[in-house]
Parts: sequence; C-alpha cells; structure tokens
Amino acid sequence: MTQKPNLSHGRGYLAIPGPSVMPEAVLQAMHRPAPNIYEGELVDMMPGIVADLKRVARTEHHATIYIGNGHAAWEAALSNVVAPGERVLVPATGRFGHGWADMAAGIGADVEIIDFGKSAPFDPTRVAEALAADTDHRIKAVLAVHVDTSSSVKNDVAALRAVLDAEGHPALLMADCIASLGCDRFEMDAWGVDVVVTGCQKGLMVPPGCAFVFFNDRAQAARAAMPRVSRYWDWVPRSEGTQFFQYFAGTAPTHHLYGLRTSLDMIHAEGIENVWARHGVLARAIWAACDAWATQGEMRLNISDPAYRSTAVTSLRLGQADGTRLRDWVQNQLGLTLGIGLGMAEPGDPKRDAFFRLGHMGHVNGQMVMGMLGGIEAGLCALDIAHGRGALDAAAEVIGGA
Ligand SMILES: *Cc1c(COP(=O)(O)O)cnc(C)c1O
Repeated sequence: MTQKPNLSHGRGYLAIPGPSVMPEAVLQAMHRPAPNIYEGELVDMMPGIVADLKRVARTEHHATIYIGNGHAAWEAALSNVVAPGERVLVPATGRFGHGWADMAAGIGADVEIIDFGKSAPFDPTRVAEALAADTDHRIKAVLAVHVDTSSSVKNDVAALRAVLDAEGHPALLMADCIASLGCDRFEMDAWGVDVVVTGCQKGLMVPPGCAFVFFNDRAQAARAAMPRVSRYWDWVPRSEGTQFFQYFAGTAPTHHLYGLRTSLDMIHAEGIENVWARHGVLARAIWAACDAWATQGEMRLNISDPAYRSTAVTSLRLGQADGTRLRDWVQNQLGLTLGIGLGMAEPGDPKRDAFFRLGHMGHVNGQMVMGMLGGIEAGLCALDIAHGRGALDAAAEVIGGA
C-alpha cells in the first residue's frame, strides 16, 4: 500500500500573530558582519530611523528604542511616568490588558481594572464613570490596549481621549499598539495619545528584539516630575540621543537596526495608508470566509461586530478540541502554522482547544491569505469538521473586488 503523501514540504507560512513573517529584504539587510558602533553608517542611520518610526506612529513628538520585547515596552513606558503607589486605570479586553495591568502592579502601581471580558471592546462610558468617581484625580494614567491580540478586539482609543477631556481628567492616555502598529490605522497625535508602546516583531516585520516607546510633551512633563526613574528605562537620554550609545543605554541592537531600516523603507514606499488598506482587504476576505464556514457547524469569530475587529489577527473557535486538531493537521500536513488560542479559556477547560487564531500582520499578501484559507478548508474537510461551503469563493470575491 502506498502511503498518503505529506504536503508540508515547501515554503511554510507562519500565520501566528507575532512574530510575523519576515521579508527577505529584512533578513538580507541583517545578514552582515558586525558594524562599527562608534562611527560610520550605523551611527549616521539613527536620526532617520527615529524620524521614520515616528511617521509610522503618526507623531511629531519623541521616540525611544529599547532592546527588548513588548513586555519591555510596557515596563519602560510605565517606569517613566508612574511612581510606586500611584494609580492606573486599565479597561481590559483580553489577556494583554491584564498583562499590562500586572506589569504596572509589578512596579508598585495601584491598579484598577475594568474587565470587559474576552469578546467585546471596552465601553468608554464605563471608563468615564470611573474617571468621574476619581474626584481627587488619583488616577495617573489610563492603560489602553488598541488591539488585544488574544481576543482580536480593536478598541476605540480616540474615544478615551474624548472621555478624559469631557471629564476634565488629567490622567495620561497610554496605548499598547504592539499588535496594531503598521497594520490598523493608528494616529498618536490626532487621537491625543500621550504614550504609545510597541515592538518590532509584528507589523514592523523585524525579528523580536526591539521595543519602542513614543511620548509627547505632557508625558515628558510627567516624567520630569517623577521622584526617580531607573537609569536603564529612563527615556530622557535615549530620546535626546546626543551620543549614539545614549539611544540604547549601551550597545545598540546593531542588526535589528539594519532590519528595521529596511522594514521602514518598505512601509513608507508602500505608504502607511496603503498598508492599512491592504490589511483591511485581507482581513475582510478572512471574515467573509469565516462567515461562510459558520453557516454550518461550530466555527465562530470571537468578535461579532466587524467595526471592533483587528485587521491583523483573528481569534476564532470551533467545537471542543477541534481548534487544536485543525492547527495540528494544517501544520503537519500542509506546512501552515496557525496561532494557538490565548487566554480564552482556563487551563483544564475542555473549551481551551476550541480556540485558535490567525495572524495576518505585516508582510502578508493576497495569495498568502487565500493559501491560508484554502489550507483551513482542506483541514476542515480532512478532519470531517462540520462547516459551511463557499468560504474560498467569498474570500476571492473580497480580494478580487478590492
Ligand atoms: C505581542 C503583544 C504583547 C507582548 O509582546 P512580547 O513581545 O511578547 O512581550 C503585548 N501586547 C500586545 C497587544 C501584543 O500583541
């Protein structure tokens, strides 16, 4: 008897929500001997990198780069503006909101969480109530996750600025854009965001290792009033950058900077508006396919209202263990890696294996998304998981009609 051939040999697609697919050009830019960190090309590149990062965040204010991941960005930002004992308000919409809240607790902040569950955006009126109740303005900052990568919800960050202004509350508005920068529209200055944290390994298409914090003059004033800030996290010398080593409080992430230079060139050559629009079309194709699958069986998108869905990550569920079965099958048989469900069910809960996620952030195009959807369709058929028909037609119509 001949064995059924395995179809996973070929170029794989890591369709998880970060680290994202790395462009060949980024990899090639990083493939070089160690550069001089005291003078020359790398040192000369820095002002341009900072300026082009700010263009992605849509800010004219300040930017800092840390060697670190998203968790480092969380702690870096908090360390500059929140002193032990000061209060932060966290409207949580998934695992990452709770993660940032926990990071704040770790630096000694008094954390107030408003939990909006795992499948809905935050409600600005409930945030307004919490701010109104804070009559002596003890809340120093509101920590908002723009896209919570676990639930794939996209929150209305600009609405929080409106709420803070309407309440006349002086708290800083801080946003986690780790999963959204370079994917979903985000406007730091126009939306009145005081501090933005992000990382390089999602929409920015660089291997994990750089964390970014953007801040405006209000945040700078809060930093100036801090009793102390740890030398490593302090954003003052890093953002002034009169000497190259000051940008990094030590050795620069040399190769990451070359990768980042290339990814920023790619983003600005395409145009950030076009980058957002591309993510939008690809996401709508994915949702159209999911809607078709959902007409039979148990497949469901986690966020029902398209206005509140991320265009970079999609959280879904099937019945019981079928999410994990599907992931395993497409991985082993097709070379397609889907994201695990994250924080949607507690350990030991049989529903835990129902959830999975699709990453479609950064260096992703139409054929990759059609391939991913086709792979899922094949998996649903192979595993006899009930599903509606016509998913690929629906996705093709969105992409073809774009
Ligand atoms: C990925 C992610 C993080 C954590 O980033 P790490 O690099 O894993 O530390 C935090 N917040 C959001 C929204 C994310 O998507």
